[in-house]
Amino acid sequence: DKNQFGWNFDNTYARLSDVFFERINPTPARSPHMVMFNEDLARTLGLNVSALSKEGQNYFAGNSLFDGSEPLAQAYAGHQFGHINMLGDGRANLLGEHVTAKGQRFDIQLKGAGRTRFSRRGDGLAALGPMLREYIISEAMFALNIPTTRSLAVVTTGEQVIRETSLPGAVLTRVASSHLRVGTFEYAAGVEKGKYLRELADYTIQRHYPELASQPEPYVGLLKAVIERQASLIVKWMQVGFVHGVMNTDNMTISGETIDYGPCAFMDRFSLSTVFSSIDTQGRYSYGQQPSIGQWNLTRFAETLLPLFSTNQEEAIAKAEAALDTYAEHLSRYWVSGMRGKLGLVKEGEDDMSLFNSLLEMMERNQADYTNTFRALSEGKMLDEPLFKDGEFVEWYKAWQALNPDLELMKSRNPAVIPRNHMVEKALAAAVEKDDYSVAQRLLDIVRNPFVEPGDGDEFKRPANDEGYQTFCGT
Ligand code: AMP
Ligand code: MG
Ligand code: MG
Repeated sequence: DKNQFGWNFDNTYARLSDVFFERINPTPARSPHMVMFNEDLARTLGLNVSALSKEGQNYFAGNSLFDGSEPLAQAYAGHQFGHINMLGDGRANLLGEHVTAKGQRFDIQLKGAGRTRFSRRGDGLAALGPMLREYIISEAMFALNIPTTRSLAVVTTGEQVIRETSLPGAVLTRVASSHLRVGTFEYAAGVEKGKYLRELADYTIQRHYPELASQPEPYVGLLKAVIERQASLIVKWMQVGFVHGVMNTDNMTISGETIDYGPCAFMDRFSLSTVFSSIDTQGRYSYGQQPSIGQWNLTRFAETLLPLFSTNQEEAIAKAEAALDTYAEHLSRYWVSGMRGKLGLVKEGEDDMSLFNSLLEMMERNQADYTNTFRALSEGKMLDEPLFKDGEFVEWYKAWQALNPDLELMKSRNPAVIPRNHMVEKALAAAVEKDDYSVAQRLLDIVRNPFVEPGDGDEFKRPANDEGYQTFCGT
């Protein structure tokens, strides 16, 4: 049967000018074996779960092509740690766009399926551990109601990839509302004096912000829309203690989804200066820097769009600056409304801001666990922790209680569980070293219901001693 899997590919990106991609098929793997398959996501996409479970592995490894797929590697640039580079999909292969029965469009991408024109010195491959890590954390983010790319499958390749040691290879199937990035615009702005920029902007508007097409200034509208989505996204990260870790402009989507789960991690003890990434020695992408790095990246995005705003450069810059000024407003609006939810405040109060700030300040001073503190407050529980014994906190607690917080609201906003680093590491180690996926499955079951207390044991709630915990890009 031609359409046994239920795909409905439509490849609009492949219809763009050919500067935007290289047509290339994934490199077949020696011995594909499916170790993760996201049935829930497959169902959401309208796919045939049983056919894919049985026969999907050759396709998810890139050995066979789904009907209608037109594989390619996307071209993009990006500021990495502040420096612009030509990048592109060096180890990713866009199979095409799947359109659901409801008309929703999703990129289907294989990550780790071989070299492309953009691979530079890389091998185009991915190791099993990091692909499982992306699978688990992106599913957790989705369950936390945070916009994100998702993971449909992980297939081991039966081949080794060489990093510092030899590691089992794997391919992740990533699902995204698109892979358009700030870096895609940086690329378009640089190619043939921006000849293809308008084409990309029009395509992006059609795909993500179609309502803008009929506005008098659609490109300024695009900038404003992306600014608002990123402000909303970054606040959501902040409010679950998520540290993205590599907010290069190629890792900032136009859709407002979280992408690139390389060195990300959730923090345990609350500290603004939290950094996990081994290469982020300056703390450029620390937890507390994320809002301002968002602004920096969006400014790079605005710069690419200037020629579309006006032929008069001063006028164009003025429009960009006015749009960029809205970022701080969105950020504080989303932050305040999010914090009100976390503290169960149904009504706005004049002193809300200082209530939030003094709590966070006390949490940092007492090295309180970010997740457990908010969850304990939601349950009216006192923790045997320094924070809860701090005299200033006791006063704060009384003032907060007097506001009649809605604990049910709080329980729906403050997760009981996040993918704790020590649990993620345990799950990966069992899979990679013992071919045992039960720990990863159990962790997935738990983080997919983050607002529910985990059934057995404190293991999932116990903070790791994350001092010195390190994450890595590009493995
Ligand atoms: P990232 O740090 O994941 O955003 O990746 C930055 C760039 O490096 C992108 O162009 C990737 O495609 C490329 N890249 C990362 N790992 C590899 C690899 N193993 N082989 C080829 N390219 C890679
Ligand atoms: Mg990336
Ligand atoms: Mg990466």
